[in-house]
Order: sequence, then C-alpha cells, then structure tokens
Amino acid sequence: MIEKINKTDDEWRAVLTDEQYHVLRRKGTERAFTGAYWSTKTPGVYVCAGCGAELFSSEAKFDSGCGWPSFDRPINGEMIEEHRDVSHGMIRTEATCARCGGHLGHVFNDGPPTTGLRYCINSASIELDGSKEKP
Ligand code: FE
Repeated sequence: MIEKINKTDDEWRAVLTDEQYHVLRRKGTERAFTGAYWSTKTPGVYVCAGCGAELFSSEAKFDSGCGWPSFDRPINGEMIEEHRDVSHGMIRTEATCARCGGHLGHVFNDGPPTTGLRYCINSASIELDGSKEKP
C-alpha cells in the first residue's frame, strides 16, 4: 500500500509553483513543446513535483514527437493510478501520482513495441533528479 499524502488546497498552493499547481492540482495541461523536459535526454529519475515519489526513469523515456515527455513504463506501476477521463470530448486514461493524487498526464496505447504504452506526462508534474541511479 502506498502511504497517501493529503494536503489542503492552501498547503499545495504554498509549496508548488503556479504552473505546478495548475497542472498537478487543477488537472491542467502545459502547452506542447513548452515544458522543461519534452526533449530532455539527461539520465536520471523523474520524481513527482508534488511529493517526490519516483515515477519514471530516463531509460523509459522516448521521442514521441508529441511535445510532452513520454515514457513507455513507470518505475513502479503502483505509484501511478489510472482513471477514466471523459473531459474535453475525449475518452482518455488519466494518470495520477498514487501518493499525492497529483495529475500527471494521460496514458495512451500508441507507445513503442516494448510495452505499447505512452505515458504522456506534463513537465510541470515531474522533476528530473540526475543524481539518482536510474533503475
Ligand atoms: Fe506525488
């Protein structure tokens, strides 16, 4: 079981940047090709910008061409929760951080052959820790 982190809206506002708050807590989406990590190839571990949970390895990152950081698998599937999202006239699978509930992005079935999955993640939802050994 993942130990959940619960903060009030005011507490989140105090610890997140405006952009992080908008995406993580309000399910916002950064504009394509504008985030910090869409083209990043630096090795390391991407952690949740809300709670620091280790979410994705740079090893799983691939060039999807979509303008958001894309991964073919999480480090630990238990750290990612999936939810049916019917907003904006589409049926999608939303991905959230299992520990803090922060919105990360969406999961699509058009990923590379290894898993067939594309975790399309907002740069604002994650932070690259280059000091961590990639799993
Ligand atoms: Fe989190």
